[in-house]
Amino acid sequence: LSEYHRKRDFQRTPEPRGQAKPKTSGRSFVVQKHAARQLHYDFRLELGGVLKSWAVPKGPSLDPRDRVLAVHVEDHPVEYGTFEGTIPEGEYGGGTVMVWKCGTWEPESDPERDYARGKLRFSLHGEKLAGTWTLVRSQGRNGDDRNWLLIKGRDEFARPASKYKVTVEQPHSVLSGRSLDEIAAASDRVWTSGGEPSNNVSSNNGVKREKRTTKHQTLVPRSGMKRATQRQWRSELAALPDA
Ligand code: MN
Repeated sequence: LSEYHRKRDFQRTPEPRGQAKPKTSGRSFVVQKHAARQLHYDFRLELGGVLKSWAVPKGPSLDPRDRVLAVHVEDHPVEYGTFEGTIPEGEYGGGTVMVWKCGTWEPESDPERDYARGKLRFSLHGEKLAGTWTLVRSQGRNGDDRNWLLIKGRDEFARPASKYKVTVEQPHSVLSGRSLDEIAAASDRVWTSGGEPSNNVSSNNGVKREKRTTKHQTLVPRSGMKRATQRQWRSELAALPDA
C-alpha cells in the first residue's frame, strides 16, 4: 500500500490509513461512486489482503456488449470498502465518495494467477451487479498496461443498455441510501459499515468547498459512448493525478 499511503495526507483526508491484511483473508468488493474532478466509479476487489482497484469512467454496464474501460490504479486497504464521505478539495482525489455497491465476490478459478495473467473471471453477489463478470487487461497500442476492460457475462442478470442503465436507475448509496449531494452536504461525517456516522474527523480543515451540484450532473458519462469519446475519457483520466 506504499503508493496509496504516499499519495495521501492522513492529517487532512478522512480516508482510512489501513494496512495490508494477511493474504488468506476474504473476498469483499466495493464499487464507489467518486465525484472527483471527473465523476467516475472505483471498482475494487479484495485480493491478496488489499483492494485491487480500477477507475471506471463510465461506470459498470449490465450489457455484455459494452467493453467498459477500467484503468488500474493503486491498491487500497480493505477498510476503504466502507469509506463514504468527502475528501477535502486540494487533497488527492478531492471530492465526494459514495459506497454505490458492496458485497462479496467469487473467483471462477485461482484469482492470484488469473490477476497476474490479466484476465479475471468472477461472480458478484447482490442485486445491482449480480452474475458473472470479466476484467481483462487490454493490449494498449502505447504499451500502457493500466488499461483493462470490465465486461458483463452473458447470464440471466445481463440487460441491454438501451433498456436499462444500472448507474442511472440506481444512483444512491447502498450503505446509507444517500445521493452524492446529500453526502457532500454532510461532509464532516464519515459513514462506516455499521451505518452510524462518526464525528471524529475534522471537517475540511476549514477549507471552503466549492459547490459541486452542477458538476456531478454535467459530467455523468453517457452509456453507449463512442470509441473516440472513450479514448478522450482515457486520456483525460490518464492526465489526472487523482483518478
Ligand atoms: Mn476514485
